[in-house]
Amino acid sequence: MSYVDELFGLKGKVALVTGGGRGIGQVIAAGLAKAGAEVAIVSRTGADETVKKIQAEGGSAYSLIADVTSEKAVDAALAGVLSRSHSLDIVFNNAGICIHKDTLEAGIDEWREVLDINLTGEYIVARAAGRVMIERKIKGSIINMASMSGSVVNVPQWQASYNASKAGIIHMTRSLAVEWAPHGIRVNSLSPGYIATPMSVDTPQELRDAWMPLIPFHRMGKPEELIGAVLYLAADSSGYTSGSDIIVDGAYVCA
Ligand code: NDP
Repeated sequence: MSYVDELFGLKGKVALVTGGGRGIGQVIAAGLAKAGAEVAIVSRTGADETVKKIQAEGGSAYSLIADVTSEKAVDAALAGVLSRSHSLDIVFNNAGICIHKDTLEAGIDEWREVLDINLTGEYIVARAAGRVMIERKIKGSIINMASMSGSVVNVPQWQASYNASKAGIIHMTRSLAVEWAPHGIRVNSLSPGYIATPMSVDTPQELRDAWMPLIPFHRMGKPEELIGAVLYLAADSSGYTSGSDIIVDGAYVCA
């Protein structure tokens, strides 16, 4: 085994990725599979394309349908993972949405939808996974998807619900890290800056043009540029890292 495999290899591990049908989740699922993990991918509409891509590269993956806002659906998905893969070592808790709207124009239903999917959805998945890990004495790693928007108010778009959901995820992560430390379960969050995915590329060009001068790197990140941080958090090399938030944003929050 190479030194890099020793530090970051995931052979024999089982990983769950939510929102892996496209965007960041798709690329991270492929990265986890390349590092040796068997990957179960959860989304509302299926992840056949991601699964085919991973299998074509010699990796192991399968798709499960679940809406992360439904405890029942998430429990059923985890039961599916356990009956097929017999373990759950890593969770990349990534499914999320964003609505850009002035606060005075946004309806309360839009606030609820964003908080429900992003914050409560990640809580439901983390809680279900934590229960499995504690019952089975698995010293697992849960990686919650936050955002730089959990630390700064990035402009010029208004997205109070999104920012609040991501700030909540960062502190939920710290809370679970402390609560589950006695079980050897590590809980961390990842906070990307602007990353080129269907979520960000669908935003109007004038908005994306406004972002560029505010990003010290003057470009959006690629989803591939998040893989290293996720492998670090997933693997044993981060055995003493818990409750941390890793910001990968081309220095946006520093500027
Ligand atoms: P995409 O819109 O490209 O992908 C989102 C994924 O989440 C899809 O696979 C979607 O699948 C899934 N999803 C959405 N809602 C649910 C739900 N209720 N239940 C299950 N799955 C769901 O987004 P990104 O890849 O850009 O974003 C992924 C995560 O990264 C999000 O949490 C986002 O907030 C975060 N992030 C993104 C940044 C960016 O610039 N792109 C920056 C910082 C953070 P389906 O519709 O089939 O369910």
